[in-house]
Amino acid sequence: MRRLLWLAGVACLLVLAACSGVADLPALPREVLSLSLGPSRTPTPVPTTTPTATPTPTLTPTATPTPTATLRPAEATLRVDPPSVGQGKTLVVSVRSDRAIKARGALGGMALSFYPADNAAWAVVGIPLDAPAGEMPLQVEVTDAQGRTQTLTASVQIVANAGSVITLNIPPDKRELLEPEVTGPELAQLRAVWNEQTPLWRGSAFRSPLANVAPASAGFGQYRIFDGGALRDFHTGIDYAVPSGTPIQAPAAGRVVVAEPMKVRGNNIWIDHGWGVYSGYFHLSSLAVEPGQLVKPGQTLGTVGTTGRSTGPHLHWEMRVNGVAVDPLEWTRRAIGPVGREAGP
Ligand SMILES: [Zn+2]
Repeated sequence: MRRLLWLAGVACLLVLAACSGVADLPALPREVLSLSLGPSRTPTPVPTTTPTATPTPTLTPTATPTPTATLRPAEATLRVDPPSVGQGKTLVVSVRSDRAIKARGALGGMALSFYPADNAAWAVVGIPLDAPAGEMPLQVEVTDAQGRTQTLTASVQIVANAGSVITLNIPPDKRELLEPEVTGPELAQLRAVWNEQTPLWRGSAFRSPLANVAPASAGFGQYRIFDGGALRDFHTGIDYAVPSGTPIQAPAAGRVVVAEPMKVRGNNIWIDHGWGVYSGYFHLSSLAVEPGQLVKPGQTLGTVGTTGRSTGPHLHWEMRVNGVAVDPLEWTRRAIGPVGREAGP
């Protein structure tokens, strides 16, 4: 009897060894870098606990000790989509596991905000327009329900943005709108808004804020020198020169967090889409929504105008991910969303 149990113990150990072996790397989907850093990285102290459970002479040999599956560290796979990302573009970092996990981490010096999904966690990351091109280290710490932690690492390729440089002339009566005393407080007010994170939109691609998509009159990421060179900055959104009064529609579900006149942005609206993702609409002639209001995709937000630091009727559409300005058009071209809902439209 003892011998039998000992043999069973050895068999159990063998099974465990097989289970905790190096997992095969899954086939790499085209646009996705997939790193499988399974439990093999961490020496597993697990099997030692199993055989030491001395076979007791009690009459309940069928009562198997602790379920072995929960003793193994979590299998965790880190994914970066896309593996090579442009300055000003959006990146999705996700970790999938065989059980519930929590994740935290950083890309370069930027802390990531992870959101839980089924046996997964994911983060949307805005790559700043001035992020250094080249390899950027990604480090993600994954913790399972038992508090066991493992660290997954990867590197993300940041691709330089071949943006243009233009010089802009601002009318004398609007020159004060270039001054840091004016631009600073307005930006600080919005930074406080962009830091809130509530899940609202569910990861489908965004639609255009204009029903009839017009060609952009100024692209995202353009480097602009305002007259005299007092202000040099990236264009943090995309401009559409369309007539005053043209309706602007919500590109995705969300909650209005700002709908008010500001000096630089004029009448402007910000929508919180959740997960640190915001969209903004500047220089409007009229506002049709109020802060706190939930909006559906396609709902009218207001109308195009030329209020604030603007030289003619146009819509400036901007998107921010955790405060970082990203290319809005990318959001209309691919679905960027929670793990498990990444499929395109
Ligand atoms: Zn603009």
